[in-house]
Amino acid sequence: SAPKHLKNSYHYYSDTTSGLLRKELILTKDIASAIENEQLEVYFQPIYKAHTNRIAVVEALVRWNHPTLGLLTPADFLQLAEDTGEIIKIGEWVMESTCRSLAEWHQKNLNIKAAVNVSAMQFYAEDLPTTFFNIAQKYSIDPKWIEIEITESVLLIEEEIPESLERLKEFGFGIVLDDFGTGYNSLKVLKDMKPEKIKVDRSFVDKVLEDERSKTITTSIIGMAKMLSIEVVAEGVETKGQKDFLLELECDFFQGFLFSQPVSEENVTKLLIREQEVLDSKENVLNRRK
Ligand code: C2E
Ligand code: MG
Ligand code: MG
Ligand code: MG
Repeated sequence: SAPKHLKNSYHYYSDTTSGLLRKELILTKDIASAIENEQLEVYFQPIYKAHTNRIAVVEALVRWNHPTLGLLTPADFLQLAEDTGEIIKIGEWVMESTCRSLAEWHQKNLNIKAAVNVSAMQFYAEDLPTTFFNIAQKYSIDPKWIEIEITESVLLIEEEIPESLERLKEFGFGIVLDDFGTGYNSLKVLKDMKPEKIKVDRSFVDKVLEDERSKTITTSIIGMAKMLSIEVVAEGVETKGQKDFLLELECDFFQGFLFSQPVSEENVTKLLIREQEVLDSKENVLNRRK
């Protein structure tokens, strides 16, 4: 076998460049069978209504439980899924899985909405609105319970507002503009797309207390949304200070690690049941006082 110092240098090398390359090769080989091998899982991150402090929506965020590489997040495989076209199947699978969970929650009288992310390639694939509508119908979910999150990059491909967007609205899906403020044309997109909600990107929320410019921009975005009757979600709220500042600006919804990480379906159910129990016990206290 090789002398010790050579073995070490080999290991050092394999952890860097060729290690990454190997990972990439494994993922490329495995992504097409990830669904049939039941390796994908939808996590959900709760979005809280500011005034009631209750969960209003849960955002579906896909995960890949890879047998040798462990739990992967979209940063590890979303680009690959787009490049290989697998994102189409994955997107439909995420929608189906979300509808199945939603049906279970609604059956338990846990009446929340779910948000599903859609990337540009999915958006321009063969008849996304009908596909999504059919999936919702299969689980008897009215599309009004589902929000479609798109980023402005989805819309910049064409000059005109795409027909898919209108058709999603006609079916009754909610339209949410994700990562607001990070694109090249945010105001034009806001004007043409007429979303019901925008999500202020984490990069603004992140610095809202330390950086005067982020503070001013965030204040303006929320003020402008109010004037357009568009609801605002703050993404990536991590500290109580950020939350208090955003609450003062009358931000409508909060999402971030301060409130909850993305969690499994089972844990969402637990969170929702606990929330309901707290509410019920408060009601009992009030009734006893009567
Ligand atoms: P996004 O739609 O902006 O989702 C929010 C991301 O921010 C999630 O990352 C979430 O875990 C993370 N996040 C939430 N709160 C905090 C916080 O307080 N601090 C920090 N540091 N991060 C926070 P995730 O799950 O890794 O997803 C990344 C992106 O991948 C998503 O960004 C979305 O654009 C995309 N994505 C996720 N699932 C899907 C999917 O099913 N389909 C498509 N097309 N894209 C997806
Ligand atoms: Mg999103
Ligand atoms: Mg976002
Ligand atoms: Mg984001």
